[in-house]
Amino acid sequence: MGLVFPDNCRICDAPLSGVSRVPVCPRCLAAPRPLASEYACVNCHAPFVNRHPLDDEGRCGLCRRGLTGFDAAFAFGSYEGELRKLIQLFKYGGTPTLARPLGMLLASALPREKAFDLVVPMPMHWRRRWSRGFNQAELLADVLAARLGFAKLNAVRRRKATPPQAGLTGAQRRKNMSGAFKVRNADRIRGKRILLVDDVLTTGSTAAACARALKRAGAAYVAVITVARADRRMVDVTGPGPDRFETSPLGGVLDAQSGSTA
Ligand SMILES: [Zn+2]
Ligand SMILES: [Zn+2]
Repeated sequence: MGLVFPDNCRICDAPLSGVSRVPVCPRCLAAPRPLASEYACVNCHAPFVNRHPLDDEGRCGLCRRGLTGFDAAFAFGSYEGELRKLIQLFKYGGTPTLARPLGMLLASALPREKAFDLVVPMPMHWRRRWSRGFNQAELLADVLAARLGFAKLNAVRRRKATPPQAGLTGAQRRKNMSGAFKVRNADRIRGKRILLVDDVLTTGSTAAACARALKRAGAAYVAVITVARADRRMVDVTGPGPDRFETSPLGGVLDAQSGSTA
């Protein structure tokens, strides 16, 4: 009787029973689990295989050196399995209705005691938004703002379509992203605590550039919240050399090689 989406689950192919606004079965929707790590940075919550990258205060090398660009980062789960498939179906599969279940996961990732003045979605370049039909970060921000009772503001504009970040070093990524964002409501940003919303945190350089633009406009505090984050712990285990302990999802090759955490 699936009148809206009469097909099978677009993730596991099980037949869908009943009317649903999302083309995914309840089992796949319930599959994502919160990211669990015994060793995670107290600021950016980057997970590590052991406590070597963390200082006595529990901060990773990037946070200790002020390289993240934001004050904190929260994510629901790691970018793999069903969560990855759900996010990809949401973004690329023409299913904006997945914003609600994913937005609820997002809301559950924020510690209850954290208060913010504004929820700001990661902007998308107008050309990409036009071809996709929606900005996934904005739909997630709507759900989050309603759920937590914060105001939402499209405070940042994306000035240029940035080339892919993959394969670039940390420094190259920062150069790639510089000038990519323009804050357009500076009077409403000044002195405010901002929660910047995106779907996935991968290298962290896009979120960092956007957070820096908000800080330059006078924001008092900027935290990033995403549904998922890249979790390279398994890669790190097999990676060569002691540098692997410094490699974080927010890092990049250059960051990983500079500085010691001893
Ligand atoms: Zn399914
Ligand atoms: Zn950190």
